[in-house]
Amino acid sequence: MRMIVAGNWKMHKDRDEASVLLKALVEAGAGRRSGVEVIAAPAYPFLDLAVSAVKGSGIHIAAQNCHAAAQGAYTGEVSVLMLKSLGVTHCIVGHSERRQYFGETDAQVAEKIKALLFHGLTPIYCCGEKLDERERGHHFTIVEAQIKDALDGLSEEELGRCIIAYEPVWAIGTGRTASSEQAQEMHAFIREYIAGRGTPEVPILYGGSCKPDNAASLFACPDVNGGLIGGASLDAAQFAELVRIAHEAKHDC
Ligand code: PEP
Repeated sequence: MRMIVAGNWKMHKDRDEASVLLKALVEAGAGRRSGVEVIAAPAYPFLDLAVSAVKGSGIHIAAQNCHAAAQGAYTGEVSVLMLKSLGVTHCIVGHSERRQYFGETDAQVAEKIKALLFHGLTPIYCCGEKLDERERGHHFTIVEAQIKDALDGLSEEELGRCIIAYEPVWAIGTGRTASSEQAQEMHAFIREYIAGRGTPEVPILYGGSCKPDNAASLFACPDVNGGLIGGASLDAAQFAELVRIAHEAKHDC
């Protein structure tokens, strides 16, 4: 089973701190655990140095966002081609913080995914329900609608090059994690939907207050292919430990 641990550093770490964290991850051999793909997503200004820092280590570098257009008058934005020219291989899209604070819509997210795939980058597509949506029992409907809007326009081949991250919004940065049962049932639901499109192998990561002390039970779930990690990925020892746990979980399957 494909396992992936991706760290989303959000708007944390300045240049020196990002360099120190990357160096520590490389020295810990995080990218060398067999069967685990490791991805780090620093802020835009440090992508260039990050790609250099991880060269030959097995660690991949992701951006946290992109613009769908190849170029143009979009002040403050960064295109997929620019990311590609730096050696960035992955990009997080549709994170709930982008939806909440920057008004990003499913239609915009779908365009970003298309652009990433067109240029050969891997989208890490985030979906997940808010607390009130779960409490009203609407979580499956919400996630299905998000996935439909973002991914239905893709061919089977394109879908096969995506990574999905299920991130219940109520668990992000809150210290409140989905139980392994809640994660597994949503991942199985997403897996079934994706299988209906002919590509059951799309990795589905869990995200939301995932840390070394709860990762083993989450990563052991049959439909969980690892994690998209925020807070815990800011610490090299915790990030490396999550990679170790993902490696163990894979070998237990
Ligand atoms: C995230 O923002 O993608 C995330 C999962 O954050 P945290 O691990 O801090 O909840």
